[in-house]
Amino acid sequence: MAAQPILIDTHAHIYEDRILAEIGTYISRASENKVGMIMMPNIDLSSIDKMLFIEDQYPTTKSMMGLHPCHVFDDFKTVLSEMEEWFGKRNFVGVGETGIDLYWDKSFVEQQMAAFDIQIAWARSQRLPVIIHSRESIDMCIEMVSERQDGSLTGVFHCFTGDEIQAKQIKDLGFYIGIGGVVTYKNSELPKVLIDNGLSNVVLETDSPYLPPVPHRGKLNEPAFIPYVVEKLGEVFQLEKEQIEALTTKNASQLFNL
Ligand SMILES: [Zn+2]
Repeated sequence: MAAQPILIDTHAHIYEDRILAEIGTYISRASENKVGMIMMPNIDLSSIDKMLFIEDQYPTTKSMMGLHPCHVFDDFKTVLSEMEEWFGKRNFVGVGETGIDLYWDKSFVEQQMAAFDIQIAWARSQRLPVIIHSRESIDMCIEMVSERQDGSLTGVFHCFTGDEIQAKQIKDLGFYIGIGGVVTYKNSELPKVLIDNGLSNVVLETDSPYLPPVPHRGKLNEPAFIPYVVEKLGEVFQLEKEQIEALTTKNASQLFNL
């Protein structure tokens, strides 16, 4: 019998305390909704133990290693060298999340760029995809990647909310775009951009516990909500749910070399 198509949540911070407290329930609810794999991007030094604890308990979860741009401060070099040692200790499926965030705080932008540069170099040396956070900084992130793309880099612009031109630049770089709850929001421009872009480099994500899809706005987002994103993409592309599932899972498997 053919295996059930599984969905992959390529970006979920399920080690955050609110979810971690009942992690077993969240993982089973994900499985009941066909989400058979959950990728966890790291945030900072304090999230590592919680993330690895989950990965050790639940074989459907996978860890990544990196420093989130909103957690880059003056000590980032020390933090990064501590993180880098982890690559010698166990396997990770990606580097991140890294990138640049100009929404919350612009005072550490130089440090964010330097930390992003170092993590792109890790992605190259570890042969892993790089998970990019590009809030209010998408052109900067595209530029930094394109200056460093020698054909060996791949990765994902997570929570992509750019326009058609940016989507094309990302695709031309050989990178993927992560699509989540935002595509279900009423005034989102994303459906239009996605129709232009196509599905060939689209992967699914929740960014849980943030950005829940309609009809769960205002609640905690969780991997089990991925099917709402699938349903919306089905409407946007006029495709069956099963086709969206198969395509996005194939893309995620390619991106993460599963
Ligand atoms: Zn994130």
